[in-house]
Amino acid sequence: MADKKVVVIGGGVAGAHAAKSLEDVASVTLLDPKEYFEVPYALLRSIVEPEFAEKSLIEHTEYLKKATLVVSKAKSATDRAVVTSSGEQLPYDYLVIATGSTYQGPSKRSERLQYFQSENKKLKSASTVLIIGGGPVGVELAAEIVVDFPEKKVILVHGGERLLEFFGPKASRKTLSWLKSKNVEVILNERIDIKELSDSTSTYTTNTGRSITADAHFVAVGKKVGSSWIMDSAFKDLLDSNGRLKVDKSLRLEGNTNVFAIGDIANTKEIKQGYLATKHAQVVSENIKKLIKNPKSKLATYKPLATPMGAVSLGRSLGVAQLPFGTIIGRLAGMIKSKDLFVGHTRKEFGIKDN
Ligand SMILES: Cc1cc2nc3c(=O)[nH]c(=O)nc-3n(C[C@H](O)[C@H](O)[C@H](O)COP(=O)(O)OP(=O)(O)OC[C@H]3O[C@@H](n4cnc5c(N)ncnc54)[C@H](O)[C@@H]3O)c2cc1C
Repeated sequence: MADKKVVVIGGGVAGAHAAKSLEDVASVTLLDPKEYFEVPYALLRSIVEPEFAEKSLIEHTEYLKKATLVVSKAKSATDRAVVTSSGEQLPYDYLVIATGSTYQGPSKRSERLQYFQSENKKLKSASTVLIIGGGPVGVELAAEIVVDFPEKKVILVHGGERLLEFFGPKASRKTLSWLKSKNVEVILNERIDIKELSDSTSTYTTNTGRSITADAHFVAVGKKVGSSWIMDSAFKDLLDSNGRLKVDKSLRLEGNTNVFAIGDIANTKEIKQGYLATKHAQVVSENIKKLIKNPKSKLATYKPLATPMGAVSLGRSLGVAQLPFGTIIGRLAGMIKSKDLFVGHTRKEFGIKDN
């Protein structure tokens, strides 16, 4: 085994790809509060069809053949070692920080599968469903529900003036009219205070005083950036006002030689997306490989995406996509993502053979 120690903090899209790519050239430790990797894009399909999660939840040990897995959270880090919340010290020569968003769920895959079963039960027993948040997660969930359960009434409340604000207005308009054509009631420019919610809530009041009655609700507002632990770390001064780590062109923390940040936690000037997190992981893996060979190597650089691009699924076969040549909605856009939500692609990237 190679003698350089690499610690990767966070086993999401960015961290999992980096750990996999580096495990043949260094002694890699992946630190994650979960025993498994979750394909994030499959989250909402797993609510309408819990069996879908059987493929999208992948034990870290299924794709990592040499790396050591530590199931815990980073509590702090110095310029030499990471301290876990279970008190372990993980010394490193190179550190990759990939704690995109905070994770509150279970550490065991079986419990996560159970979670999808209970969310599905909650959904199936509701005739009216309220979704709070009209970003990609809220829109995809509304679409999954109306496609699989057309008899259910779906109400979507969004605080912004248009859906999918990270895309252009055309994508928002087309998505809104598609949802309306499926009888989704979309309420824009109104908010529901999620701190007030509980599982027994059935009447909801927006900030304008509008009252909504629903049998179940799903919260689809942005997750918090996973950077609270950095406040107790040697790198705390490198957090920007959004809680992201300031990186240079080679995705190294500003002013550091051996610490990198990738994925949603890095303050690259672009929208935060999984396929970009994968690209970050590629650049950083290449750089660490170069540095291991020769600490004076010229490093590869990362060019942030200038114009937002991406696809939002609208159920199992349709989608809306913003591409370099324009916005498309329908079956062609759906072909990019909607059928298996990149689960097959991810499993292939991880070298998992499905029969
Ligand atoms: C429903 C949905 C659909 C999406 N669709 C798309 C899409 O179609 N295309 C696309 O490009 N992007 C999509 N995204 C966005 C994409 O998932 C994120 O940009 C991507 O997951 C970011 O990867 P990451 O590794 O930086 O962070 P994450 O995937 O959030 O992973 C962070 C990891 O860090 C761990 N962690 C957090 N705190 C700590 C700590 N203190 N110590 C150790 N570990 C920690 C977490 O457990 C987690 O494993 C979608 C997201 C969602 C939710």
